[in-house]
Amino acid sequence: MPTPTPAELESLLMQRSLTDTQLLEAARAAADFRILPDATVLKVGGQSLIDRGRAAVLPLVDEIVAARRDHPLLIGTGAGTRARHLYSIAAGLNLPAGVLAQLGASVADQNAAMLGQLLARHGVSAVDGAGLSAVPLYLAEVRAVVFSGMPPYKLWIRPAAEGVIPPYRTDAGCYLVAEQFGCRAMIYVKDEDGLYTANPKTERHATFIPRISVDEMKARGLQDSILEFPVLDLLQSGRHVRQVQVINGLVPGNLTRALAGEPVGTIITAD
Ligand code: ADP
Ligand code: MG
Repeated sequence: MPTPTPAELESLLMQRSLTDTQLLEAARAAADFRILPDATVLKVGGQSLIDRGRAAVLPLVDEIVAARRDHPLLIGTGAGTRARHLYSIAAGLNLPAGVLAQLGASVADQNAAMLGQLLARHGVSAVDGAGLSAVPLYLAEVRAVVFSGMPPYKLWIRPAAEGVIPPYRTDAGCYLVAEQFGCRAMIYVKDEDGLYTANPKTERHATFIPRISVDEMKARGLQDSILEFPVLDLLQSGRHVRQVQVINGLVPGNLTRALAGEPVGTIITAD
């Protein structure tokens, strides 16, 4: 479909249902626009990285500080073990997903606060919410910013089909920031070399998968493994960020290599 003129798009928008097929097609055909095309979003895992304390966190901080010169970074934090503890108590009390989402967000906030303090001497701040606000200014001036990875759905989160665990947590929150800002890349920094045929923490014979599509992951029953499963659907409907990379942040140099475009870890593709 040719790019619609603003007048064509406007006339469709004024007259049709907002989910009208022709309207959606016209909107899709509008010229692409990326808000922060040079930035990369990192998700620093909660359980996998931050909960391991200084041995895991300090070398990663050093790598981030060095890497930002060449790669502007939006650094989102996971929640991890404290959130799991909260979820177990709150779920035991039969509290709903929306309440658990707020509890989980408070832990991602704690991790963002800590990472922000560690990066403060380099001029890097933690911001409240990754919404536009001053993020572009921070990136232009100090090339990095820290945000809390949980998406701000709070009480309004769409509950999962079963259970009260919020389905959109920090993996999803970070992906959505990357996708909405039209970022260059989305890198998950975790504690395994990438995706395996089974959880390597419990399956000794699991083998490493360097590259895989979302459909293949689902076909192999791996949709609920190294990433929150809704991320796979978000990735398939993504417009800008069509692949994500999962790396082992406990191995020095991995982040730098991934940022340089090397196929370190596992690359998960939309198609
Ligand atoms: P985060 O700290 O970012 O929340 P998680 O701990 O939720 O990360 O997810 C990473 C973990 O996923 C790994 O430490 C690993 O134990 C687990 N995992 C489960 N299935 C797989 C799999 N098939 N391949 C790799 N890791 C897996
Ligand atoms: Mg997790």
